[in-house]
Amino acid sequence: MIADGIFANIIDRDTIDLGVRGELIFEIEKIRVLCGERELPILSCEEIWTTNALTEGWVRVIRVKLGEVIDICAQYRVNILGLGEFVAVPCGIFDTDYFKENYTYDGDDLGAYVSGNVTNFKLWAPVASAVTLKLYSDGEGGEAYARIPLTREGFGVWQASVDCGHGTYYTYEVTNAVGTQEAVDPYAKAAGVNGKRGMVVDLSFTNPEGWNADKALSHISSYSEATIWEVHVRDFSNMIKNSKYKGKYLAFTEKGLKNEHGEPVGIDYLKELGISHVHLLPVYDYASVDEHTCSNFNWGYDPQNYNVPEGSYSTDPYHGEVRIREYKEMVAALHEAGIGVIMDMVYNHTYDANSNLNKVVPYYYYRYDILGRNTNASGCGNDTASERYMFGKYMVESCAYWVGEYHLDGLRFDLMGLHDLATMQRVEAAVHGINPRAIIYGEGWDMGATIGEVAQANQKFIGKIHPTGDAIGAIAVFNDVIRDGLKGSVFEEETPGYVNGGADEESWANVLFGINGGQENHRASWSVPDSMVINYMSAHDNYSLWDKLALANPKDSEEARAEMNKLGAAILMISKGTPFWQAGEEMLRTKYGDENSYNASDKINNMDWSTLAPGTIQHDTMLYYKGLIEMRRGLDIFTKADVSIAPQSLANRAVILTFTDKNGGKAKVIINPRMKDFHISLGEEWSLVADENLAGGSVIRRESSAIVRAVSMRVYINDVLLEK
Ligand code: CA
Repeated sequence: MIADGIFANIIDRDTIDLGVRGELIFEIEKIRVLCGERELPILSCEEIWTTNALTEGWVRVIRVKLGEVIDICAQYRVNILGLGEFVAVPCGIFDTDYFKENYTYDGDDLGAYVSGNVTNFKLWAPVASAVTLKLYSDGEGGEAYARIPLTREGFGVWQASVDCGHGTYYTYEVTNAVGTQEAVDPYAKAAGVNGKRGMVVDLSFTNPEGWNADKALSHISSYSEATIWEVHVRDFSNMIKNSKYKGKYLAFTEKGLKNEHGEPVGIDYLKELGISHVHLLPVYDYASVDEHTCSNFNWGYDPQNYNVPEGSYSTDPYHGEVRIREYKEMVAALHEAGIGVIMDMVYNHTYDANSNLNKVVPYYYYRYDILGRNTNASGCGNDTASERYMFGKYMVESCAYWVGEYHLDGLRFDLMGLHDLATMQRVEAAVHGINPRAIIYGEGWDMGATIGEVAQANQKFIGKIHPTGDAIGAIAVFNDVIRDGLKGSVFEEETPGYVNGGADEESWANVLFGINGGQENHRASWSVPDSMVINYMSAHDNYSLWDKLALANPKDSEEARAEMNKLGAAILMISKGTPFWQAGEEMLRTKYGDENSYNASDKINNMDWSTLAPGTIQHDTMLYYKGLIEMRRGLDIFTKADVSIAPQSLANRAVILTFTDKNGGKAKVIINPRMKDFHISLGEEWSLVADENLAGGSVIRRESSAIVRAVSMRVYINDVLLEK
């Protein structure tokens, strides 16, 4: 269709732009436009040179004005004598008032809705000339047992009401300018194995026992109160020896699991550790793991069916309702343990550019340059177009569906800077309308000017999003400033940060930016209101913290590196904003030096629970994290928004931070990033609640002076806080 360098783009009802690759030379008199065998009158061909942010350099464009109005469902061909024929595709026309007025569909009934033995199918396919519903008895194999043409209604919606019920597998065969393709309904909520066919589902049949009583967390009243543990479903349980459900959703439901040293693992461990939320790496249906064999591994950033749970994590990927039920069982078990569930949403790109969305409405859901090539700011090959109304609507409805149907406690957005602010505001309103305590955050990196800088939901502009109704927050962003400030840049593996030998003016300023919850300061290029930052040292991307410390601090002992790790965690736990870390950071998790393990082996990615044995540095570090979490939970001076923080510098980048709340409560935090102990007098007696070994809710001792150990933090509180 874009054969050899010309992109014929229908930009309006009587206009086709031909984007021409530089080296192609032809005379504009040789252009003809055909529909079937009929030639359309051409009024003018204007040669323009143009560029935009999506295209490198200048591109020659021939703007062809037609003497008649085209039909967006018909196929038009541009014939250039000597070069050949190019199919003209509706693309630019999607942004015209004509298209928006005639084909914006605001109904909430797209998809397949079953009632008894009748299912209503609705698909938005405004440029299709025919849509056929194909019904199958199974999720794979065999021929369709019925082919039912859909009827076109208003706004480009196609529909059929069919005698079929729960458990019917289906696809759509859609014909439009680029040809006829079979697609899974983008709105499908269940699917067969490997997500190749949708399934009609009566969701009431997917609820585990007691599901109606299950509720999202009710005790979180600000984002700062959350402590988020980022985990991959398969990594979590693969190495739990006596788990019956290794690598599956159901492993989160197994109580009483222990490792070979008798230490609790699995969900019991999470409960003991005290985290408030798990953040699951992608659990929507992604394409790259074969659900038949589960023989390969992937993180899952390759979305296929956005509203369907991933099948490889279920005990039976062949029956579409099973993965839904087991996902709900996982959520219910975590809720019962007092832990919330946050899901990773990856709407910014799809597994491939010709996704189900693209098969149904080609060129609508993605961003293209003038030559019809997908833009690739994501690095994944195809950036989606949230600013197109029907994709924004799709995102909003998809998020609301997951949060509502699965009782979720939050959403995380991959490469959120690729989405537009207006859509993210609608997502916020929809999600918080269902669960006002949901924690919403994303990667707010600056993704370049693919949609015009001001509109992007990135770190710089996320503060424009406001919380809706009773929402406990708006949308937070990952804070790479404190991440790199604490342990050194993720892009320079040998560079240390504030806690591992690189304490200097710059690293301290970056750390302080996180402690202050991303408040405006003279150094940072961005800031956010209301502490809408996710403060962290490690996530699935880049080296695990333990591996980074090995690279940046090769001469230090493992014990010394564990102290660095602990100091970093301690700083996150006294910071405004939300502490976050990769599962296992608290037990010095290694990925054996693999910086990008997205499709590496299970061995590289698995959490190794056997390292938890009393007396090991892994176990000691875990206990320290546990204490820090308890301390943060018990002392709201570290989570309240109206607390002021006064930093005072000591020699060699050591600092004292004084936290003051409006009731006279005070906390003093002394941080020593040096490799040497130092002595300090506090003037009066304070209650020590955390030092280099211990942290928690209770007082270790009272003291008026102390030795602050190398690479450590001490936390003191005054009597006002003590009495609370
Ligand atoms: Ca899958």
